[in-house]
Amino acid sequence: MGKLYRAISADGSAFAAVLDGRDIVSEIEKLHKTSAVVTAALGRLTVAASLMGYMLKGEDDCLTLRIDADGPAGQLVAVSDSRGNVKSCVSNPVVELPLNDKGKLDVAGAVGRDGTLAVVKDMGLRDPYVGVIPLVSGEIAEDIANYYAVSEQIPTVCALGVLVDTDLSVKSAGGFLVQLLPFADEKCVDIIEKNVAAMRPVSALLDEGVTPEEIAGMLLAGLEPNELDSASPVYRCDCSRERTEKVLISIGQKELRSIAAEGKDTEVKCHFCGKNYIFTPDEISRLAEGASEE
Ligand SMILES: [Zn+2]
Repeated sequence: MGKLYRAISADGSAFAAVLDGRDIVSEIEKLHKTSAVVTAALGRLTVAASLMGYMLKGEDDCLTLRIDADGPAGQLVAVSDSRGNVKSCVSNPVVELPLNDKGKLDVAGAVGRDGTLAVVKDMGLRDPYVGVIPLVSGEIAEDIANYYAVSEQIPTVCALGVLVDTDLSVKSAGGFLVQLLPFADEKCVDIIEKNVAAMRPVSALLDEGVTPEEIAGMLLAGLEPNELDSASPVYRCDCSRERTEKVLISIGQKELRSIAAEGKDTEVKCHFCGKNYIFTPDEISRLAEGASEE
């Protein structure tokens, strides 16, 4: 399971959330059989979703991050609940690209640079909150920080990292968010800027065994950080036969009747966990009864 730790400065003006998400991203690699660069891209997005989802207040709230851009990976989606538990999927799990000019996995090359990041927060209201902004880099962490600056006016530093081993397994994965509250003073901003500038890549720190608690301590050093809370989020899909039936019913009576008339079993595969749900023609006919005529 993942290790999520949050700390807040003594005066309450800055907080840091840090996730060691190696187990979560390993699960992504196993489930989706992603190539190295897609493991890094979807892993980064999923770590960000977990950190952001954990900030939601209501127990049943959930958060979706979706990137639609012009890269070969296609659409990337990550969904988190308010405990940081996540699931994710990608249109094309296998993309092979040469390393970028820094010798790293070319995440922006796989994701694309021309496109949008959508943040959807479902907080149980009639309409979910939706924020859509153009991508700034496709490297994801900068895009998340830019989302907070543009859509929520919250100064935010975000770092995300995934180290993939030569056998494609995940060596380390994780990230952090540091946010300033409106009353943070100049001095606090200066200290955090210095702390962030002195940080080594978060994936390297986690790979060396540095804990989320220690990383939060480095980020808020000089501000007397105190523990806010901690959690153990996991990769988890909440799909079920009942939910799949609802999706089928939503396609309408006419369409369901024509599917049933073909006389073949219908297979519905969950994009997030790969589970297959099979419906016989009789079952489809029964669902058609409950569907609307349009
Ligand atoms: Zn599923």
